[in-house]
Amino acid sequence: MQTGNINVQTENIFPIIKKFLYSDHEIFLRELVSNAVDATQKRITLGKLGEVNAVEGNTSIEVIRDETNKTLTIRDRGIGMTEDEVNKYINQIAFSGATEFLDKYKGEEAKTAIIGHFGLGFYSAFMVAKHVDIITWSQREGSEPVKWSCDGSPEYTIDKVEKDERGTDIVLHIADDSEEFLTDERIQGILNKYCKFMPVEIIHGTQTEMVDDPTGEKDEEGNVKKTEKVSPRIVNEASPLWSKAPADLKDEDYQKFYRDLYPMNFEDPLFHIHLNVDFPFNLTGILYFPQLKKEMELRRDKIHLYSNQVFITDNVENIVPDFLTLLHGVIDSPDIPLNVSRSYLQEDANVKKISGHISKKVSDKLNAMFKKDRETFASQWDDLRIFVEYGMLTDEKFMDRAKKFMLFKDTDGTCHTHEELIALVGETQKDKNGKVILPYTADAKAQHSFVSAAKERGYQVLVMEGPLAAHMVQKLEEAYPDVQFKRVDSDVADNLIESDEAAESTLDEKQEEALKPVIEGAFPGDAYKVKFTAMSPTAAPLTITRSEFMRRMKEQQAVGGGGGFQMFGAMPDNYDVTVNSNHPIVQKILTEKNEEVKQKLAKRAGDLARLSQGLLEGEELTAFIAEGYGELS
Ligand code: ADP
Ligand code: MG
Repeated sequence: MQTGNINVQTENIFPIIKKFLYSDHEIFLRELVSNAVDATQKRITLGKLGEVNAVEGNTSIEVIRDETNKTLTIRDRGIGMTEDEVNKYINQIAFSGATEFLDKYKGEEAKTAIIGHFGLGFYSAFMVAKHVDIITWSQREGSEPVKWSCDGSPEYTIDKVEKDERGTDIVLHIADDSEEFLTDERIQGILNKYCKFMPVEIIHGTQTEMVDDPTGEKDEEGNVKKTEKVSPRIVNEASPLWSKAPADLKDEDYQKFYRDLYPMNFEDPLFHIHLNVDFPFNLTGILYFPQLKKEMELRRDKIHLYSNQVFITDNVENIVPDFLTLLHGVIDSPDIPLNVSRSYLQEDANVKKISGHISKKVSDKLNAMFKKDRETFASQWDDLRIFVEYGMLTDEKFMDRAKKFMLFKDTDGTCHTHEELIALVGETQKDKNGKVILPYTADAKAQHSFVSAAKERGYQVLVMEGPLAAHMVQKLEEAYPDVQFKRVDSDVADNLIESDEAAESTLDEKQEEALKPVIEGAFPGDAYKVKFTAMSPTAAPLTITRSEFMRRMKEQQAVGGGGGFQMFGAMPDNYDVTVNSNHPIVQKILTEKNEEVKQKLAKRAGDLARLSQGLLEGEELTAFIAEGYGELS
């Protein structure tokens, strides 16, 4: 027997490991199983190169729980370690065996198959174990099995031992405060989370199923009798879908995989993108486009990030552009540095390239779908829209590409491209400055009177809904400088599109001047500004609107990132009251001689205008309704 001190800089590294990783103790299993995977893959590679015997038979990794002896063993049939190697790779912590292996076999297929940039590695075992044994027998000819043993102090022992099979057993003597890691449920849960797609078969415990009795014996009804069959429980799918060639896969395969990834999500995805890049960086994966209609649930299912089939995280913020986190699925890249802080990730050149690449793939796919089957694309637009808009708002390059398939939906449900829209309304909706005005509604029901007034004038009314609408119209105006959006309730229909010709008014300037204070008196405070417009006598007598500019600023402020207008502070609510000077009621108010009646008429008209906009509230509303009933009785 030999004893020695583990080569660490600090007096005792284990308290640090324990403290540092406190919240994530379960990670030890990911580390140990991925070491076992590495060792197995090394053996396969070296077997092919003829440096060790070629692999025959079983290479599974086993996770063995022994609740009586309170041990957890991770067993592999991998490359194993000689005594020298244990000294080198285990005792000299600072040294990473994987790095050396990679240096030596540069360019071999092994390169992509080695997991090991996690920074924690083998010693994370001491987060849950009070004592760890490594019993290992190298595949190299002439080697003998050895046992390394350590109780968490920098002192270890190394000794000769008996072993049946070449490979490595890592035996954890579980600490008293970590006995949860001896239960089937906990271990199966961790394996499921981190090891579900690791590339070597992993077995944990057994499973029992009912199968036809092998004797073929039948029961009274003539059916073959059933009998229990116990078999090893396989944890993982060693060649997950994303590692396969897209040409070999069917739509059903992708849908099934989606259900495997998100068992709690019952809605099928709209479509998927299979990523497969090997230059200038390695990236595979499958991204699913979910049905996004329920905007608030967007983040329920997250993208899973893997490195060589080892689950890393489902928090991909800062790794992929924000709008892409609306997608679901899997990204696997050995090129994303995983053991560094998130703020560093943002600046990492590889991460930026990967983000840019995914963003491009997604826009290419959308464009291809649009070109191939416009009708289906349009029918899915409500789901796609949120995503495309978010992408356009946050990613300049995506915006440029999205112009090809960005659709504008009108209140009749028809979708138009920018080009089609201009062809359709370019002449009728052009204002005196040459801009094509696009009236839109954020809520066709609430803004019904405005929508129908605009449509009556022959305008196409677009639907721009959702919390991003205010930002979106701004962005679209940048993207398409020939158009300008105006919400239908930002002005009376007659004034939405400014022209040089003014309709004839029945009121002269003097009459307007006389009427103005009467109408103003019908509205509270000074939030309402009165102006006159000559419109058709059938249009409403008074209309309350809110200027496009003011409303947009306010909405943008509310959503955040107010487009640089925060300096206004909280903006007051301001409304325009447009008096239709050609309406008979307006004439009536003007000509009424009795001052009291005159004011009452104006007040009634004002109240109705406010009521229609949901602006009549509280005491005023109660009084208004009481008065109405009073007139009925
Ligand atoms: P890393 O995996 O990043 O190299 P670890 O601390 O996880 O760091 O492991 C250190 C080294 O110990 C490995 O590089 C490998 O050489 C060796 N090792 C660990 N586990 C095994 C195993 N199951 N079989 C063979 N070698 C192993
Ligand atoms: Mg490791």
